[in-house]
Amino acid sequence: MREAREAFRRFWPLTRGDRTWMLVIVACVVVSALAETAAILLFAELTDNALEAGSLSAFWGPAGAWLGVAVVGALVGYLGNSLATWTAERFVLRLRAGVFGHVQDLPPHFFQRHRQGDLVERLTGDVEAIEQMVVSGVVGTISAAFSAVFYAAAALYLRWDLALATFVLAPLFLLAARRFSGRIKQASQDERVADGAITSVVEESLGNIVLTQAYNRRRDEERRLDKEARAWMRASVRGARLIEMYEQFVEVVETLCVLAVIGLGVWEISAGRMTLGALLAFAAFIGYLYPPVRDLGQLGLTVTAATAGAERIAEILDAEPAVRDPETRVAAWPVRGWVGFHGVTFRYPGSARDSVQDMTLRTSPGELVLVTGPSGAGKSTLAKLLTRFYDPDSGVISLDGVPLTDVPLDFLRENIALLPQQTLVLNGTVRENIACGRPGATEAEIEQAARSAAAHDFITALPDGYDTPLAPGTAALSGGQLQRVAIARAMLRAAPVLVLDEPTAGLDSVAARQIVQPLRRLMSGRTTIMITHDLSLAADADRVLVVDEGRLVDSGTHDELMARCPVYTRLAEPWPGPRPPAPDDTLALRI
Ligand code: ATP
Repeated sequence: MREAREAFRRFWPLTRGDRTWMLVIVACVVVSALAETAAILLFAELTDNALEAGSLSAFWGPAGAWLGVAVVGALVGYLGNSLATWTAERFVLRLRAGVFGHVQDLPPHFFQRHRQGDLVERLTGDVEAIEQMVVSGVVGTISAAFSAVFYAAAALYLRWDLALATFVLAPLFLLAARRFSGRIKQASQDERVADGAITSVVEESLGNIVLTQAYNRRRDEERRLDKEARAWMRASVRGARLIEMYEQFVEVVETLCVLAVIGLGVWEISAGRMTLGALLAFAAFIGYLYPPVRDLGQLGLTVTAATAGAERIAEILDAEPAVRDPETRVAAWPVRGWVGFHGVTFRYPGSARDSVQDMTLRTSPGELVLVTGPSGAGKSTLAKLLTRFYDPDSGVISLDGVPLTDVPLDFLRENIALLPQQTLVLNGTVRENIACGRPGATEAEIEQAARSAAAHDFITALPDGYDTPLAPGTAALSGGQLQRVAIARAMLRAAPVLVLDEPTAGLDSVAARQIVQPLRRLMSGRTTIMITHDLSLAADADRVLVVDEGRLVDSGTHDELMARCPVYTRLAEPWPGPRPPAPDDTLALRI
C-alpha cells in the first residue's frame, strides 16, 4: 500500500489542468445517480398505483416524468463518459510525452542496460496502467464511493432494518479484494516484464536475422522466444485466473444478498408491512449498490496492478541524463574551431577502469587531426566526450576556449558535426535523411549537399529518387551509399568542427574510394578530428595522435611517428602473410 501511495503522490501532479474536468465528471456521476434514484422511485409509484390498481390514469404522469428523467440521465451519462475518456487519454498523452522526452536525454549506457522491447512496453502498457490509477482511478473511486453511499442511504431510507440485514454481507467484498490484490499485482508485474521480454526477443531476432540464418541459429532464437512466451503465458493465465476467481466469488456474494432481500421481502409483504412497489424499489437500490461496491473492491486491484507499472516508469524518470544544459547560457558566437582537451579523465558509469586518462590535446581551426590506436584504446570515447554524450570526470574540454559545460547543448551540436562509426538512418525519405542535417534547408541546398557527397547520381537513379523511403536496417542502399547520404547530411550541417569516427570502416576498397573525394570536400576548411585504424589516411593529416589504453602516447606526422613510436609502427605494420591482390587498394584509400 505504501508503494501505491508513493506512486500516486508522484504522478498525481501531472493531472494539473485536468482536475476541473475530473470534478465535472464526478458531477455527471452524481446527476446520473440522482436520475437513477428518481427513476426507481417512479417505478415503485407505477407498480403500486398503476400496475396493481390497473389504473391507466395513474400511468401517464409517472411515465412522462420517468421518460424525462431517462433522457436527462442519458445526456449526462454520455457527457460524463466522453469526458472521462478524453481526460484519461490526455493524461496518457502527457505522461508518455514526458517519459519519452526524458528518455531522449538519457546517455548511451542507459540503452545498453535496458532492452528496447522492455522500454517499449514501459512507454505503452505501463503508462496506461498509471492512468488507470491516477485519473480513472480517482474519478472512479469518488464516483463509486458517492454512488455506494447514495444508494445505501436510499435503501436505508426505504427500510433501514432490511437494509442493515443485507449490508451484513458487505465486508465479504472487501475481504475478497484484500486477499486477491497482492497476488494480482505480482501476476500483472510478471506479465508486463514478460511482455517486454517478448518484444525484445522479436526485435533483436529480426534485427539480427542475417546472423540467425547464416549461423543456423533458428532453433536457438525459437527457443528464446518460446521461453519468454511461456513465462508470459503463465503470468497471463495466473492473472486471469485470479481476477476470474475474485469476480465469481463476488457474483456468489451478490446472489446471496439478492436472495436475502427477496426472502425478507416475501415475509414483510405477507405480514402486510410492505407494498410490492416498495420491495421492488428496495431491491433495485440494493442492486444498484453492488456495482459501485464491486468497483471499489476492484479499484484496489487496479491500483495494485498500476503500482507495478508506476515503479517501472519511475525507474526511467529517476535515471539521470549524463549531461545537462548550462544554467547560464553563453551567447552564441561564430565558432572558429579551436578544440582543446585539458587533463581529461573519464570512466563509463559502472566501469572498473578509466577509458580516457589525463588526456591533453589541442586542434587549430582548419586542421585535420587523425586519431589512431589499438582497438579499445578510447578513441570513440573522445568523440563522445567532444559531442557531450558524457562529461569528463576531471579536466576540461573546450571549444574556442569556452568549456563545453558552459556551451548550450543545441549550439554545441550545431557546431560540431559527428559522422558516427555506424551510419545512422532516419525513418523517412532520402531527402529527409539529408535534410535533418539542417532543418529548414531548401531543396536546392539538399541537392547541392548530395552532389558534393557524390550521392546525387545514385539517388536520382533510384525509382523514387529523393523520395525513396529509408529505414534503419534498410536494404535499399549499400553501405557506401548510406555513408554518402550521411556525408551529405554532414555537408548540409556545415559545422566548423567535424568528428569522423571510422568513416571508411566496413567498406571495401571500391566503396571507400567512392567516399574519399566527398570526405575531402567535407573536411576542407573545417577542424576535422578523424578517428581511424586506416593509416593510409595518415599521410594527408596535419597531425596524427596515437592513443593507447586511454592515454595520448605520442603525436606527430606519419613519418615522425614511424621513426619513433612503437605503438604506431605496430599499427602501421603490413598485413602478415600474403595478401589477396587488390591493385588500387592503397591508392583508393589515400586522401
Ligand atoms: P575501437 O577502435 O575498437 O572502436 P575505441 O578505441 O574507439 O575502440 P572506445 O569505444 O572508446 O574504444 O572504448 C574504450 C574503452 O571503454 C573500452 O575498453 C571499452 O570497453 C570501454 N567502453 C566503451 N563504451 C562503454 C560503455 N558504454 N560502458 C562501459 N565501458 C565502455
